Amino acid sequence: AEGLVKHFGSGGGLRGKRRVVQAVDGVTLSVRRGETFAIVGESGCGKSTLARLLMRLLTPTAGAIRFDGRDVTDATGRDLEALRRDMQFIFQDPFSSLNPRMTVGKLVGEPLEVHAPELSRAERRDRVAALLRQVGLRAEHAGRYPHEFSGGQRQRIGIARALACGPKVIIGDEPVSALDVSVQAQVINLLGDLSRDLGLTLVIIAHDLGVIRHMSDRVAVMYLGRIVETGTADAVFSDPRHPYTQALLASIPSPEARLSGRKAMVLGEMPSPSAPPPGCRFHTRCPHAQAVCRTDAPPLSARPEADHAVACHFHDSLAAEARPAAATAQSEAA
Ligand code: SF4
Ligand code: MG
Repeated sequence: AEGLVKHFGSGGGLRGKRRVVQAVDGVTLSVRRGETFAIVGESGCGKSTLARLLMRLLTPTAGAIRFDGRDVTDATGRDLEALRRDMQFIFQDPFSSLNPRMTVGKLVGEPLEVHAPELSRAERRDRVAALLRQVGLRAEHAGRYPHEFSGGQRQRIGIARALACGPKVIIGDEPVSALDVSVQAQVINLLGDLSRDLGLTLVIIAHDLGVIRHMSDRVAVMYLGRIVETGTADAVFSDPRHPYTQALLASIPSPEARLSGRKAMVLGEMPSPSAPPPGCRFHTRCPHAQAVCRTDAPPLSARPEADHAVACHFHDSLAAEARPAAATAQSEAA
């Protein structure tokens, strides 16, 4: 994705004042074949919109999307159909994304009817049985209905459906956040196993860094429509340089806090994406903000040592252990 922008018009109505929501505002990223790429940020940061743009479920306002060497930014018709086969989506909520009136066999077999009409009924049944086994369910489950399954099993059904046409990429929009904590790891492990065994590329959207910490190869952290930090999971998790990433990491709840449902987010409210702050969009919440941050947007700058880039004027001085005082001293010295 290069320079992707997606703005939504909203409002209008009585006073005729149209507000533009800058859901995605200039995102450039590349996902490599076979890797697991995580996009993280709070709700409202634009990550779901970005995922839908990458899948071409939405058309970008500006920018370009290339997939497997082809420009798919304006793909339509057969090109879009081919893209739909190569890239599959798994939804956040397995309860509402599966049609309750369809049997599991029908749900998983339906994409085959569309994309592989040459299969006979018996071949399709065999393929569905194999898919169900692949996600840890049983072939006999094909005759049952979604409500007969637990949340984790329903997400497995969603994954089997996504795998039906042999996609190259699976994009999951918070694929485990609606599940019990005890089940999340099982589904995450299943995705990891599938990506390894099938050579799948995974793009996982999450608001919780804890969920993707151990499964992702590379990570992009989003804030108000922009990527603020990206790099290998190792670089981002062990040497986070953006104050927002640092705050997200510090707020990963301990297992005890998770069980009690407690959430730690110390930074207060995120500004509206229809009126993002000037300069660095994070400056209204940043403990290290200086005058320059209120006027100049920091570019996403590559750090020298690794596959790692950070959009903060002070990324050189903001190692994770840095205190606000240290950043102040540094900028005064500069
Ligand atoms: Fe904070 Fe300034 Fe860095 Fe933005 S550029 S994250 S406000 S220190
Ligand atoms: Mg979302």
